[in-house]
Amino acid sequence: MTVGNMETAALFDAGKKGRGLRASRELRAGEVVFAEPSFSAVVFDSFATQVCHSCFRHQAKLHRCAQCKFAHYCDRTCQTACWDEHKQECGAIKKIGKAPNEHVRLAARVLWRIHKDTGIASDSQLISVDQLEDHVADLPEGDLKKLQTDVHNFQQYWSRGRKQHSADYISHIFGIIKCNGFTLSDQRGLQAVGVGLFPNLCLVNHDCWPNCTVVLNHGKIELRALEKIPEGEELTVSYVDFLNLSADRQKKLKEHFHFECTCSHCSQHIKDDLMMDAAESKPSADKVKEVTAFSKECLEKIEKSRIQGDFHEVVKLCHECLGKQENVLADTHLYRLRVLSVASEVLSYMRSFSEAAGYARKMVEGYTKLYHPNNAQLGMAIMRAGVTHWHAGQIEAGHSLICKAYGILMVTHGPNHAMTRDLESMRTQTEVELKMFKQNEQEYHTMRDAALKKPVTSWEPPC
Ligand SMILES: [Zn+2]
Ligand SMILES: [Zn+2]
Ligand SMILES: [Zn+2]
Repeated sequence: MTVGNMETAALFDAGKKGRGLRASRELRAGEVVFAEPSFSAVVFDSFATQVCHSCFRHQAKLHRCAQCKFAHYCDRTCQTACWDEHKQECGAIKKIGKAPNEHVRLAARVLWRIHKDTGIASDSQLISVDQLEDHVADLPEGDLKKLQTDVHNFQQYWSRGRKQHSADYISHIFGIIKCNGFTLSDQRGLQAVGVGLFPNLCLVNHDCWPNCTVVLNHGKIELRALEKIPEGEELTVSYVDFLNLSADRQKKLKEHFHFECTCSHCSQHIKDDLMMDAAESKPSADKVKEVTAFSKECLEKIEKSRIQGDFHEVVKLCHECLGKQENVLADTHLYRLRVLSVASEVLSYMRSFSEAAGYARKMVEGYTKLYHPNNAQLGMAIMRAGVTHWHAGQIEAGHSLICKAYGILMVTHGPNHAMTRDLESMRTQTEVELKMFKQNEQEYHTMRDAALKKPVTSWEPPC
């Protein structure tokens, strides 16, 4: 079955989990196990005119493909780099007059690529794309209906005269995309803008407490080791956020990826207790139950107001909820952390930096007790908390958080990633400011207040 080889990882039979990858030699924390370009990838429908169809960067001004008027690119270089992949798509879109949805576009790109390269795009690709799992048989009724519609639209889109495929084979390709597609985010890792298929990455099994992480870096995904991994150990990534109770993670994994998670954190319910814990002051069980129910309801209202953009209402609800939770729910309770996260984000957007910083710090303290020390989500939360403290004029805490985040992102994102580079320049800047602060506090605050009158860095939207 192995069709290619990699120096750092090898295919093996992972028992009940099916195929898996394991380390061929000892790996260091932060080491790139492998980097892989997409076999095929498309921009989501909703970002078709905002994101380059070649490099997936968000750009204010993009050039439209003169032929199909659908594809958009940064410039000639991006357009030329992508032409081989876009050529047939371009003709098909022109013919039917309108681009089909992202699933149909991706399925067609996959098939065009299979026709060209027989499912193997490079020497290091370990498995052919059409050998990946499809889980079509496990799809619920509603999803099957959607699949049939997609297959129908696909057949209209797929030009006549080309090799025709049976509906079953096309469903197989859609199934592969559905359970193996990897969401691509823009250059700052903030928004999901597209989806792609990365065959080697599909071989990496899930663990809720994984030893690797995946990051998109300059158009390729990188599998990066989160810790020292001994030779022969299975390589894993997490398909879901760890900050859910084990039963909830298992439910999500079952729904989206069709397997029962039996990882050690799920089977031993590790950290579930912390995520539901009561405050140290030992409130009564009834009180905890009451506040938990209140928080759940309140979080729904908060989410609604946030979607509507009513940030004053969001802040009001957060204050109310945090007040009730005080001395009842522990600082590691999931509901408390969720409210703290929204409160710090929205208050920071509203430029109430001091209050936002206080919440961000509590949130980071809770996250640190729950997440793997090199978790990417933790690194990014610490980065946001650092920036908030910095904007609040709390330069010592700001600098120390930014340094901490930089240390994590060096492992999870690597030194060349746009976010790590941002952090590096923030680290230098805050270091200079910290010196200034230590020499003359008064002067420092005057300088900071003036700087804050300028717009805040653009990568800090509220949602
Ligand atoms: Zn581009
Ligand atoms: Zn075109
Ligand atoms: Zn698990």
